[in-house]
Amino acid sequence: MSENAGAATPGKGSGSEINNRAAASIDDTSMLPLAAAALSYAARGWRVHPLVPSRKIPLWHREDRCPRIGDCVTGHVKWTQRATTDTDTIVKWWTANPAANVSVVTGPASGVWVLDVDDKDDPVRGVGSPSLAALEREHGDLPPTYTVGTGSVGVHHYFTYEGVDFHLGNPASKLAPGLDIRAEGGQVVAPPSRVDDPKHVMAYVVLDPRPPVPAPAWLLDKLRNLKPKPTAARRLAHIDAATPENRERLAAALRRRRAGAA
Ligand SMILES: [Zn+2]
Repeated sequence: MSENAGAATPGKGSGSEINNRAAASIDDTSMLPLAAAALSYAARGWRVHPLVPSRKIPLWHREDRCPRIGDCVTGHVKWTQRATTDTDTIVKWWTANPAANVSVVTGPASGVWVLDVDDKDDPVRGVGSPSLAALEREHGDLPPTYTVGTGSVGVHHYFTYEGVDFHLGNPASKLAPGLDIRAEGGQVVAPPSRVDDPKHVMAYVVLDPRPPVPAPAWLLDKLRNLKPKPTAARRLAHIDAATPENRERLAAALRRRRAGAA
């Protein structure tokens, strides 16, 4: 399943020797129990938290069902805030829930982001795979990096934050169809999690165990130039209030926003 960590890598002298040593020290977590895999990710600095067994949803209660007790007594604690690299906490979580799937929270706090190549909308011809192949034909192949297979319909390429000098969120299919980004505020299901729900049957396995590398400059350039989705506030900012007609539109938009917030 995994590549030989000692396999020759293209590169230069001592640099690739260091890379090979680092790769050899990283386990193929596909074969570990879920708790051990979670601890392995934490040891790399990746923040983790538990998911419902066989599902992709957080084990924690939802904000709209918050009982306002315990950790949440002064306000709901989101999973992005709960995720941790703390060994004792992780042991406690998985001792209580040994079958919990493992989520790795992406973003600067973990130091990794993920390119999710997603083919599930067309498993026969693929969606993300042909998109990535077209980009690679134009710009060159992605470098070998930590890579996870998400079953038969997806691949996660992990990258470090080196070169990410802009806000990277979670744009889905904006880079190209079937190419999703998991970065700040996002998460990925990690090996050896399994998902078996009415929509998905997936087993997460490590395809390449070597540590994440920086993304190539061409990919970072494309991500840097993605247009952010206009938010309600940005849309309002584009309405010129100078004419009576536009002032009425602005007032109507603000009324709708207040009604929506109520
Ligand atoms: Zn809560």
